[in-house]
Amino acid sequence: MNKPPSVPEHFDAVVVGAGFAGLYMLYRLRELGLSVRAFDSAGDVGGTWYWNRYPGARCDIPTTDYAYTFDPDLEKEWTWSEKYATQPEILDYLRLVADRHSLRSDIEFSAAVTSARWDEQEERWAITTSSGQEIRCRYYIMATGCLSMPKSSEIEGAGRFGGQVYFTSRWPHEGADFTGQRVAVIGTGSSGIQSIPLIARQASQLTVFQRTANFSIPAHNGPPSADRLKRLDEDRDEYRHAARWSRGGIPTDLTDVFGMTASEAVRRERFEAAWAQGELFGILNVFADQGFNPASNDIVATMIREKIRSTVKDPGTAEALSPKDHYFGTKRPCLDSGYFETFNLPHVRLVDLRTQPIVSITEEGIETADESFGFDAIVYATGFDAMTGALVAADITGRDGWSLKEKWAAGPSTYLGLMTTGFPNLFMLTAPGSPSVLSNMAVSIEQHVDWVAGCLKDMREAGFETIEPTALAESGWDQHVQDCAAITLYPTASSWYMGANVPGKPRVFLPYIGGVDAYRKACDDVVEQDYLGFRMTGPGRARCHDGVVRRMQPDVALVLELLATLGLPPMDTLSAADARALMAATAATRPPGPEVGEVMDGVIPVPAGDLPYRLYRPAGLPEGPHPLVVYFHGGGWVLGNLDSDDPLCRDLCARSGAVVVSVNYRHAPEDRYPAAALDAFAAVQWVDANAIELGGIPGQLAVAGWSAGANIAAVACQLARDAGGPHISGQLLICPVVDSDLTRPSYQDNGDGYILTTALMRWFWDHYADPADRGDPLAAPLRGNLEGLPPTCIVTADFDPLRDEGVAYARALEAAGVPARLTRARGHIHTSLTMVDVVISGAPVRAEIGEALRTFFPNAVPQEPVS
Ligand SMILES: Cc1cc2nc3c(=O)[nH]c(=O)nc-3n(C[C@H](O)[C@H](O)[C@H](O)COP(=O)(O)OP(=O)(O)OC[C@H]3O[C@@H](n4cnc5c(N)ncnc54)[C@H](O)[C@@H]3O)c2cc1C
Repeated sequence: MNKPPSVPEHFDAVVVGAGFAGLYMLYRLRELGLSVRAFDSAGDVGGTWYWNRYPGARCDIPTTDYAYTFDPDLEKEWTWSEKYATQPEILDYLRLVADRHSLRSDIEFSAAVTSARWDEQEERWAITTSSGQEIRCRYYIMATGCLSMPKSSEIEGAGRFGGQVYFTSRWPHEGADFTGQRVAVIGTGSSGIQSIPLIARQASQLTVFQRTANFSIPAHNGPPSADRLKRLDEDRDEYRHAARWSRGGIPTDLTDVFGMTASEAVRRERFEAAWAQGELFGILNVFADQGFNPASNDIVATMIREKIRSTVKDPGTAEALSPKDHYFGTKRPCLDSGYFETFNLPHVRLVDLRTQPIVSITEEGIETADESFGFDAIVYATGFDAMTGALVAADITGRDGWSLKEKWAAGPSTYLGLMTTGFPNLFMLTAPGSPSVLSNMAVSIEQHVDWVAGCLKDMREAGFETIEPTALAESGWDQHVQDCAAITLYPTASSWYMGANVPGKPRVFLPYIGGVDAYRKACDDVVEQDYLGFRMTGPGRARCHDGVVRRMQPDVALVLELLATLGLPPMDTLSAADARALMAATAATRPPGPEVGEVMDGVIPVPAGDLPYRLYRPAGLPEGPHPLVVYFHGGGWVLGNLDSDDPLCRDLCARSGAVVVSVNYRHAPEDRYPAAALDAFAAVQWVDANAIELGGIPGQLAVAGWSAGANIAAVACQLARDAGGPHISGQLLICPVVDSDLTRPSYQDNGDGYILTTALMRWFWDHYADPADRGDPLAAPLRGNLEGLPPTCIVTADFDPLRDEGVAYARALEAAGVPARLTRARGHIHTSLTMVDVVISGAPVRAEIGEALRTFFPNAVPQEPVS
């Protein structure tokens, strides 16, 4: 097969790796009629399952799901013997796949690809291998695996040890016999947890060196789940379809039980059921909020720690084995068979490296700060340089001599976890930014491969030969990947998901946590929109539909999806009374918002009658007085009351350290323009006059509002200026209505589908003001005189029809010499910021708002805000 090294061989495509991904990629490329050569440094197919031959090595996704689905006959021919198969069985399976489709003839084994360079002139990749071959190919596909690059040892003196050394990820084919030996295992991740019980059966002494205690649940291995087999038998296609469109790549009924609101009995019942089931996606789905709510997560974590304590007899060992430094799930949880029980054996000992760190490996064994240990064998179960390790090590150089290593020095950047700018025709399967290690990888790999094959087919049909993502699309995807992670607890852990296990590796959340389903939809959307964000070129042609595939915050998208399923009538088709009832009903089900020191209701006597108010006093601060914020709720002058914006008011109070006085005002259509605006001004005057009684600092008064509440807040500021008082220190306008012009571009962009619609804004205006009045500054403050107004913070949301008028108000204020700070709520809708503890991604913006409020009161007693 080899030609002399000086004569490069030409192929349409080169695939690196012959594991799950490489094998299927090869199959699909051949199906397209492309000439392909695959390489693997391993001696045979299998990838992960070729290398990881340590005792106890098994999959931790049920075999009913951890398998290919592209070959229906294979599904009939192959039967898994266990729920979680052993490494030899999975390797046999992959060998069978290679044989069935005669894949080996196109794979070169024991051949590492050592470098690849993009040839700009030829528009081809020039590739070299460890055996000195040179290959040219148009498409270069890395199927190099997320967990294929073992982490190098950081331990001092590792080369010195005179006994046997084993690495779980490079286990000898002839196996290892530890009978009668003193064995050390370093590492208690998945490989350590799987191998320790089996090594303990042979060793005369086993010492386990643990840096981080890990959560593990019993696998309850046995025959494949009867329930899953039944579902497969009944309707295999439906089952596979459900897997492809599930969060984790396994059909799972996602719970809607929230840990914090569930009763103790329900909590226990759900946990015990997941514990008994022994599946990762079961224990990760005890509560809907365990992935983002620390308190809910702690319920699950505490129950697991209880199980550890009730299993491990020695209390000190049990304590050391109980994870306490990370939230459950934020490091990959393990499935085990007798792991914790192993520590009850008299010849097994745990050394906690947190209290007794390794000083060095010696010729005889291991020296810790307190002890010298003698060993016959050391087993390293120290994990992988995950997700980026094998890609960066493959020495890939793209356009302009820029290497992938250089490009990713501060963290990887990809489009869809599939490609990266500057590296045309380089595809990466399960790269950073793909669901990969957070999913059943068999499902994710098939999706990737199908997408790449579909892309190459589409390119060929359209006459294109190169493809590369645009910088805009790539940065948009990177942002989306980080946005998805940011609303979870995952980035809080020093995990390999964050690159934290490898010294010097940038801390970036690597996989896509939005789900297999959401990811698949994004990939499909890209194709449907003419390969959005990709630039394709071919002889005499080029095409680029540039853009960002996911701009919305992920939790906002979920809220909109959920609302769509409820089939609620559009508000603008309801009467004011019915719209108010609907709003009250939705408000009743939301989380309450943060605790504050005191909440009290009262009334403000104004000429038109009494206006109810609710006062929020900050907690955890020195007793007042505090600065005062008069707040007006949203609702288009028609809807809303003291309850509607209660969580936001609590949040503003807690973050700013100010007393917030939320004022209800007269509503339309009962009291039309300018009743609401006049009430607002009257309320501001009253609060100012009663500052001391309210616990405020006289002269330290700001005005705030959301939506139509921001409209009357802005008007009140103009009236106060014109009236020569009261003095207002600042105005905070959250997604304000400041004009009555409904033709701005944001109305075109966002007028439908984001809760506040153009039709609803029209309905609000019709209820509030006659057309003749709508241009008056008392209704449209943007049209008024803006000089001499207080410093302003305006918040606009990307997907809000009111976005552009908010921006216009900020610019107009600046032009009038008023300090105006514009805060952009990226990826948010009009209602996002009021959805405290629902739209978690709004928290950083609300933190900015709190900070803006504090800057309005520079002379107030310095006070630490409550976060
Ligand atoms: C112990 C263990 C258990 C796992 N269990 C599960 C599970 O239960 N469920 C699950 O979904 N996932 C599991 N995984 C993740 C597993 O890696 C994937 O499921 C899957 O096997 C990955 O397939 P792959 O083809 O993408 O990569 P791999 O199987 O890792 O194959 C990549 C191949 O590329 C080769 N390679 C890399 N670089 C080069 C180069 N420069 N030149 C030549 N060859 C190269 C490697 O030698 C390797 O053979 C597990 C991983 C481990 C380590």
